[in-house]
Amino acid sequence: MRLIVTEKDSAARKIAEILGGRVSVHEHGRGRQKVRSYTFEWGDAPATAIGLRGHVMESVFPNTYRRWSLKTLEQMIREPGLAWVVDGGAAGTLAALRTAAKGAKELVIATDYDREGELIGHEALEILRGDAFKRNPGDKPEKKKRASTAKRGTGTPATAEPAPDDPSPGELRVKAMLPAAVVDRHVRVRYSALTPEEVEAAFAKPSTVDFNLAEAAHSRQDIDLIWGAVLTRFMSLASYRFGSDYLSVGRVQSPTLRLVVDRELERRAFVPVPYWEIKATLGRGDESFEVAHARGRFESLDVTEAALERARVETAEVVAYKAEPRKDPPPPPFNTTALMSAASGAGMTPARAMRAAESLYLDGLISYPRTDNTVYPPSLDLRGSLRALSAWPPVAATAARLAGQAKLAPSRGKKRTTDHPPIYPVGVPRGELSGDQAKVYDLVVRRFLATLLPAAVIERQRVDVRLGEEPFLAYGASVASLGYLEVYERYAAKRDRPLPALQVGDVLQVLDLHSEAKETQPPGRYGQGKLLEKMEELGLGTKATRADIIQHLYDRGYVRDNPVEPTELGVALIAAFDVAMEKAPVDISSSGMTAGLEHQMDRISEGELRRAEVVAESQEMLEQAWRLLNAHATDIRDRIKSGVREDLTLGTCKNCGGQLRVLRGKTGKRFAACVGKGEPEAGADGAAPEAGAARAAPEAPAPGEAGARPRRGCGQTFPLPQRGTIVPTGKTCTECGWPEIKVTGASGRGRPWVLCIDIDCPSKEKYRARTRKRS
Ligand SMILES: [Zn+2]
Ligand SMILES: [Zn+2]
Repeated sequence: MRLIVTEKDSAARKIAEILGGRVSVHEHGRGRQKVRSYTFEWGDAPATAIGLRGHVMESVFPNTYRRWSLKTLEQMIREPGLAWVVDGGAAGTLAALRTAAKGAKELVIATDYDREGELIGHEALEILRGDAFKRNPGDKPEKKKRASTAKRGTGTPATAEPAPDDPSPGELRVKAMLPAAVVDRHVRVRYSALTPEEVEAAFAKPSTVDFNLAEAAHSRQDIDLIWGAVLTRFMSLASYRFGSDYLSVGRVQSPTLRLVVDRELERRAFVPVPYWEIKATLGRGDESFEVAHARGRFESLDVTEAALERARVETAEVVAYKAEPRKDPPPPPFNTTALMSAASGAGMTPARAMRAAESLYLDGLISYPRTDNTVYPPSLDLRGSLRALSAWPPVAATAARLAGQAKLAPSRGKKRTTDHPPIYPVGVPRGELSGDQAKVYDLVVRRFLATLLPAAVIERQRVDVRLGEEPFLAYGASVASLGYLEVYERYAAKRDRPLPALQVGDVLQVLDLHSEAKETQPPGRYGQGKLLEKMEELGLGTKATRADIIQHLYDRGYVRDNPVEPTELGVALIAAFDVAMEKAPVDISSSGMTAGLEHQMDRISEGELRRAEVVAESQEMLEQAWRLLNAHATDIRDRIKSGVREDLTLGTCKNCGGQLRVLRGKTGKRFAACVGKGEPEAGADGAAPEAGAARAAPEAPAPGEAGARPRRGCGQTFPLPQRGTIVPTGKTCTECGWPEIKVTGASGRGRPWVLCIDIDCPSKEKYRARTRKRS
């Protein structure tokens, strides 16, 4: 029997169907732990395919570090004592794997084709061979109650007595599931799409697990765990943030937050400069269009008004008209970042788009969605995809036409890698897709066709007119030939703004003439798509992790809204790094450091460096950073506290002029309350312990930090929405004068929602009346 191990259940099922046709399904375990395996005839021998649930092993600290304490951080950096152990949540998967592996004489690793997939393959080998630890061998035995009774009874010190169930070294490891010889003879197959062609070709040409590549992924796991744990604990403990309010800091996450914060600080420092523009509306018959003064910006009002006076005429004359066709080349093939960015432009968060892309891949509809490549390899069956798409109604005609074309000339991007092709459609859905899946599939299909279609031709127009002696001009554009826009227009920037057909000497009516006062604008905030592109440019994270890292910034309350805006907490966190790292050789929250480590991971996968060396080097860097942070602990705490306080202050109390602030009740429900004027005491910032406190296991609440205390406000409170992020708007309600707040992300999508904080406000009456009418 041959055992085939994949990364996920759906890949196992798909592979069984492709290789075997007739598949019998076995269920192991039940409920959430239920795992399926698929048995089929492959050639003339039986085979079983089974999927894991992503990673089944993880790096863990020994249990001596379970308690959060500033005192143990230094030791945690120097002697992390990490062990690679079986993931506690994978028990059901392992039990199923054991059953499925029975009697296997051959082993095929068919996990995803990338660095993480290689590591998951390595994990499967460790477990099957019986080499995987169940727990960290450096764990201290748990003290048992019985031991202390024994101590009292016999006078033997509890520590000297081994706990009764301390496992012998043999039981430290998971029992082998296959003979070592079978595991050592394993083969590894690599495929980029779950299609019959790809899978059959991969199984016909197997190789072995690339342990260097797996080691690179393993190093990243270790380094991220040590960095994340040490810095998160330091920041949380230093600023007294406990329980579910802990301050998460990460090796890639913090430099990403820095991008958002730096942009915000630039915006805040920006001094707008006033300027003026002069515009006119010209008409002929029932056509009209707008022209602007050729000078563009006027720096003073006097000069503007003088020019405006000189341009006050009845008619304008066309003095030049130019129309030039320009080629607008088709976009390059999609890699992960470009797909996420385009999806973001279509109103989807990158994290959601990634999930949808993954499920489309597992359904055999698109190729592997984690790729940097933007050049189709010559071996790719473009025509096969086109023939398949000829059966998908929205683009059937275009696909069929391209399939019948003698020569295909795909566009190409700048990045060329050899692991995976760019993302392209490999199948057509049988039924109707819905939600995000439908959107991402449509995007991938249209992009694919666009890359095979010719350039669009855009006619660019420019007209120069004179109003009296003053020069004015306007630009226009119209699509002369659709080219790739035939299928991609909905995702492309709008290009059709034609000017009327004009000729030199034409006389036009001046319908309107006015000046507009404007200000120079600060640089814009990053949209989520733009932020992803920036991360890729700086080497922050990988194609597999970027979308999740951005999502995490939202989940931790460091950023809000889209375009991405940092909260005051996010700003304070970066400021905390800045004070501490001012004189440091490397700023651990900078992208340079992170990108450097990524480079070392590439060297591990090339076999030039070893995991231990790279992890040790990063420990040294972390120790330096930690020393600097530790020296600034008080300053860091003050900054974080005032950042949090600002985020939670919603506005001014109408009764007493105090501050309205977000607080949490004992049950964790949030509400707004007046906390009076004056600087509030520590602890009044809503950091009351919540239900999740036990999980983060802080040492102890700092004195005076937690628990109820009398507040000094006027007693005014308001209920608040319990879901979404609450953002102060700085505005007050025009109906009642209480502050207005904005709620973002309450439903996971859709627009932010602005409302008056007062539930009895007349504005709500109108709203209620409107909804009553609607229903
Ligand atoms: Zn008040
Ligand atoms: Zn109101």
